[in-house]
Amino acid sequence: MRTIAILGATGSIGTQALDIVRRHPDRFCADCLTAGRSAEKLFELVREFRPKVAALAVEPEVIPEDVRFCQWFFGPDSTVQALLAAKSMDALCAIVGIAGLDAVWHALDVCQRVLLANKEALVTGGELVMRKAAEKGIPMLPVDSEHSAIFQCLQARQGNPVRRLLLTCSGGALRDWSKRDIYNATVRDVLAHPTWNMGGKITVDCATRVNKGLEIIEAHHLFGMPAEKIEVVIHPQSVVHSMVEFEDGAVLAQLGRPDMRGPIGYAMGFPERVPYGATPLDFAALGHLDFAAPDNDRFPALPMAVEALKAGGSAPVILNGANEAAVGAFLRGQIPFGRIPEILRDALDALPPSPIRSIADVYEADGKARAFADAKLGIRNEE
Ligand code: NAD
Ligand code: MG
Repeated sequence: MRTIAILGATGSIGTQALDIVRRHPDRFCADCLTAGRSAEKLFELVREFRPKVAALAVEPEVIPEDVRFCQWFFGPDSTVQALLAAKSMDALCAIVGIAGLDAVWHALDVCQRVLLANKEALVTGGELVMRKAAEKGIPMLPVDSEHSAIFQCLQARQGNPVRRLLLTCSGGALRDWSKRDIYNATVRDVLAHPTWNMGGKITVDCATRVNKGLEIIEAHHLFGMPAEKIEVVIHPQSVVHSMVEFEDGAVLAQLGRPDMRGPIGYAMGFPERVPYGATPLDFAALGHLDFAAPDNDRFPALPMAVEALKAGGSAPVILNGANEAAVGAFLRGQIPFGRIPEILRDALDALPPSPIRSIADVYEADGKARAFADAKLGIRNEE
């Protein structure tokens, strides 16, 4: 039986992880559940899963009688407090954005393994986080589907060097749109992802292709590969989840249905596989799998992420911070979709990269990027 803290339990990844717990009560116990603002949803999950510890990043108006049996933490530091109190064996880090970095950092102090969905934690704090994980001997098990696929392919590596990592990309909701239509895409257009059903922020990131850029940076940190050896290939069906090429030209791929319970379950059960009720892939029904090169003219944010990775220091933090600010503004209806890559360009040009020596340096660079983006977009931040 493995105990697991599910950080971001009410989200897309969190609820799918809990579905796996629900199917395998003999293997997993979710003894710590945390969420940001969704109090009602978290109370519901606490009633069902009966964790030891729970946390909400805001103060709820009322705490229902029937959820008071567990130890509660409230407020901005509540996730970390809950994590430290629960001391679960594993932590599934599924908070969205840099808001999840602290949780990843502290999970490395108390847990045996970190199951990482929160890619922004690696994009912003990647070097520090990976160094701490290595020093402490804590495995970082990827949950992002592409990275899980690569991790699975690497199980067959047998010490051989890797020539390239090939990240597949569905193309997002606007894959076949013209440049002009992309600029004016609405929130509704963008949230209609063709193959994956995910949280709002990552779905917008898929449409801009910022997500794939963040994933290149994530792969760089997880697998120690330079940017030059990580490539993106558009694959609309989202069946090939990613690939690894070796020096003899052999390419290993991992395939499966586009269902996040696959990679979530693989991380939770590693090295054992965890069934979750997926129907087998029907290759005859699929008929064909398509691949294409990414179009960086219509989707300029992807090469910007590579540029930020190569620039190093705080550049990826600046890209991420400006993106989080811009995505928030787009989802609130304050800016057109096309402003998102423009603001990333402006932020990278205006804010020179500085060295990142500590988590405090990460937050400082993030703050600057957000302030820059908000000012440029004419947004007054009341939070
Ligand atoms: P989501 O928005 O559906 O859920 C986010 C969760 O984090 C919620 O439980 C929310 O309450 C919590 N949260 C948000 N802000 C918080 C804060 N300040 N403090 C504490 N908790 C907070 O997001 P998601 O789609 O589940 O994505 C989670 C992470 O996993 C992201 O980093 C995303 O990039 C990554 N990821 C998601 C998918 C997917 O299929 N959804 C796939 C790959 C990677
Ligand atoms: Mg992914």
